[in-house]
Amino acid sequence: MEAVEAEGRSVVSRVKAAVFRIEVARKLVQFSCFVLFNAGIFGVSPLPLVLPVLQSLGSVHNTIGEAIGLIEWMLYNLAFPWLPLASILILAIVSGRSICGWVCPFGLIQDVLEYAGVSKVRISQSTHREMTSVKYLVLLLFIVLSGGLAISSARGVGQAYRETLGVIGEGPFTALSPSDTLFAVTPRLIIILQYYVFPISEAYEASVADLLSSPLLWARLTIMVGVLVLALYVPRGWCRYLCPQGAMLALASRFSFLGLRREPVRCTRATCRACVEACPMNIRILDLPWEKFTDPECIYCLRCVEACPTKAIRPKFP
Ligand code: SF4
Ligand code: SF4
Repeated sequence: MEAVEAEGRSVVSRVKAAVFRIEVARKLVQFSCFVLFNAGIFGVSPLPLVLPVLQSLGSVHNTIGEAIGLIEWMLYNLAFPWLPLASILILAIVSGRSICGWVCPFGLIQDVLEYAGVSKVRISQSTHREMTSVKYLVLLLFIVLSGGLAISSARGVGQAYRETLGVIGEGPFTALSPSDTLFAVTPRLIIILQYYVFPISEAYEASVADLLSSPLLWARLTIMVGVLVLALYVPRGWCRYLCPQGAMLALASRFSFLGLRREPVRCTRATCRACVEACPMNIRILDLPWEKFTDPECIYCLRCVEACPTKAIRPKFP
């Protein structure tokens, strides 16, 4: 009888341990945010919220303002983007890039792709360091194009600038963003293609044929597929190396109140690298200051906290 009770207790504790995992909580938060941000599909009105995540301003079901999309839209309309900039700065200072780890819908898509069972590519630290700077170049390009448009409009030559940039003039990042292509363009394309296969009129067929011959559409699809394939082989590959939104957060998150602390007394670094192995952002946790580290690449997924067998790592605030 006692043996049965003990077995029952151990099953309950195993279930509890499985359910109350940080990773499970994180996935629940990520999925809830994903549903909330796309709740327009259930008739929910847009929320008065601007967040530094990658969603899609172009989707009709979107309920939140995407900071980077709003920045380029406001610059295009000659307004200073104080609201999206304030959102990025405040969130990064308070909680680093935790919004990347817990809230961003495009981050969730990459996390889900991690479970596809494809063996991951190991990237050396030197290559990783060089690659992380690519996202700052993408950010710089974004600032030059969007800022250039605002300055040229203010000086009365905006029209010429717009014509030079062509279809990407209004939003250089959104025009090519893999997130916008995934959440806004691809669903629309699927619907349009249904009517292409079963045409409703010749005029419609011709307009779809026009759309399908657009180089911008194929560029967008190529970038999206490339980024999704990258995420299959490199966990959070887009977030690590290419996302300009993540780059903005990373710049400010060095000074974030939220950080991680590694207790040197508990940490058995000589024999264990469980935290480093678990980290999707390839952070050299063991080489960072133990008192508190606020690495700009850290997305506060807390996988290192969960992976540590001696519970040596924990969040630290402030
Ligand atoms: S780095 Fe970009 S895509 Fe990744 S989670 Fe952050 S905002 Fe989203
Ligand atoms: S250091 Fe820890 S919390 Fe930060 S990204 Fe890596 S595993 Fe996640």
